[in-house]
Amino acid sequence: MQKAGFGLIAVIMMTGMTGTAEAKWLRADTESFIIYSESGEKPLREFAANLQRFDTTLRLVFNVAQKGEESRLPIYLLPSRDDVARLATGSRSAPVSGFYRQDRDGSFALSHRQSGGTLPGTSAAQQVLFHEYSHHFMKRHLRVAFPGWFIEGFAEYYSTVDFDKEGRAMIGQPAHRRGYGLLMLPKMPAERVLLEPPGAMRSRGQTDVYYGRSWLLTHMLFHDAARANQVNTYTNAINAGIEPRKAATDAFGDLAQLDKDLNRYVEGRLSYRTTRDPVPVSTAIKITPLSADEDAVMMLRLERLNVRGDKPRLTNVRDALRALAAKLPTNPDVHYELAAAEWDIAPAARDLAAMRAALDKVLAAKPEHVRANVLLGQLQLYELRQKGETDPAAWRAARRPIQIANRADPNDPIPLHAYFQSFLTERTRPSDMAIKGLERAFVLTPENLSLRSAYAVSLAHLGRFEPAINLAKTVAFDPHDNGRGDALLKRIETMRDRGAAVAAPSADDDAGD
Ligand SMILES: [Zn+2]
Repeated sequence: MQKAGFGLIAVIMMTGMTGTAEAKWLRADTESFIIYSESGEKPLREFAANLQRFDTTLRLVFNVAQKGEESRLPIYLLPSRDDVARLATGSRSAPVSGFYRQDRDGSFALSHRQSGGTLPGTSAAQQVLFHEYSHHFMKRHLRVAFPGWFIEGFAEYYSTVDFDKEGRAMIGQPAHRRGYGLLMLPKMPAERVLLEPPGAMRSRGQTDVYYGRSWLLTHMLFHDAARANQVNTYTNAINAGIEPRKAATDAFGDLAQLDKDLNRYVEGRLSYRTTRDPVPVSTAIKITPLSADEDAVMMLRLERLNVRGDKPRLTNVRDALRALAAKLPTNPDVHYELAAAEWDIAPAARDLAAMRAALDKVLAAKPEHVRANVLLGQLQLYELRQKGETDPAAWRAARRPIQIANRADPNDPIPLHAYFQSFLTERTRPSDMAIKGLERAFVLTPENLSLRSAYAVSLAHLGRFEPAINLAKTVAFDPHDNGRGDALLKRIETMRDRGAAVAAPSADDDAGD
């Protein structure tokens, strides 16, 4: 069965690759996003303007003065919900209609262009994308720790933002898609929502109720005048290290009463807010077609970015890239993807000679290719580590391509992070320059958990335990983190307790991706 499934994926990918005349990828550059889509120019421009307007709305609500981003979020739009589900999980029928990820290639979000749905409000696709982007925005601009329910409740709350005829943002409209779970499925006590992470839910129904109740609780806390400011009190307490149950009861009062209030709240009419002024529409949207080289590899690139450690899928995409590279020997983008896929494969199964050959081809055509230079550096560093090399000159030479990458794009956090990691691979103390670079990478993309973890550890090594612990907490509370943050937090607390600000970091400081 599984084999048949993968065969099908290959067929789908091939269809995407060969493409038809109308299936050309366009790219929209806005102040905060790079959006890729195969739609026509007009719908892409409308989509980009609407999303940028949503971003502006969040900036107005949270007083973020900065306009746009130095490191913009790539968003890929696929034709349908099922295409997104397949990329996310390998199965077209999986319950995934959009997602947001941060990994070693950087952050990105995936959504689709399918319109409609039978529920009132904006389209399901838009709500999912606004939900995912709210996660990104929260991680980037609200730099404190939040518990899982509030991270999801916040994203659900802003997912329904819509604009009236004058262009004013309407905020806090009902999340209709949560209606069934909230009204028809067993109610989940507020106490459980407050104290359990979303990952603790045991079924799709339970997860739906958890998200619904998190949204409802967030909505009530934002709109009920009697509970004004409780969220701030609660968040401050959590960040001061107060135990979660105590933080909740201190801020919200008796949790059984909170639950009763919540049950009453869902029966009532929900209010929403409208901004006083219209939210401006950005005119700075540039739409360009991808080059033929980039266009040819887009679907395989997306497949590679989304296999998430699924070995058969990864081997499959590597093989498809090999075939495409043989067909398009002068296309540097295909060779880059091939090298990256090879690197992603487990050490025992990957072909590093083929990876190097592919990188050589990319760099012969584009010597300043940022990510290819980073990969070359990482490959060279890995080989030195395997060899047990001790000559500092060899290590300096190995990390040189990463410096070339950084010079080519100083605002790309990936080379900065890779440069820092190179010292950990060498098992030596990162240079001051490397630590400064990591700090800059963190400022550019604070949402990247792996980078955030590395930065927290480097702060701890410098003896700056308080900011290190606060950062580690933001990782630990992330519901998408799978427990890595807890280990990080314990480790930094142990370092603090031992007063260990001196030891050189070990290779396991590499937080992986
Ligand atoms: Zn979410």
